[in-house]
Amino acid sequence: MIPEGRFQCVCCDYYTVVDRHSFEVCPVCYWEDDGSTMARLDVESRSNHMTLRDARKSFEAIGAIDQSAVSLVVSASERAGLRRELRATYH
Ligand SMILES: [Zn+2]
Repeated sequence: MIPEGRFQCVCCDYYTVVDRHSFEVCPVCYWEDDGSTMARLDVESRSNHMTLRDARKSFEAIGAIDQSAVSLVVSASERAGLRRELRATYH
C-alpha cells in the first residue's frame, strides 16, 4: 500500500507527491516531478523526455507515461485505494 502524498501528481492527478518539484517519480504514472505545471503543458520536460500533455494522454490510454513504464507502475488495485481529483485534460 503506498501512502497518500500531500500533493497531487501533475500528470495522473493522484495524490502521490510528498515534496513538490523534488524529482520524485510518481508510483502511479511514473512521471518525474521536475516542476512541470498544468500551465506549461506543451513544454518538453527534460526529466521525462516528453511534454506533460503527452504524458497525461498516455496515462489515460495505457495507465503510465509511456509503454516502458507500464510494468513499473502500481497495480490497478493499489491505485484504487488512492485519492484522486481529476483535473481538466486537454485533447
Ligand atoms: Zn502520477
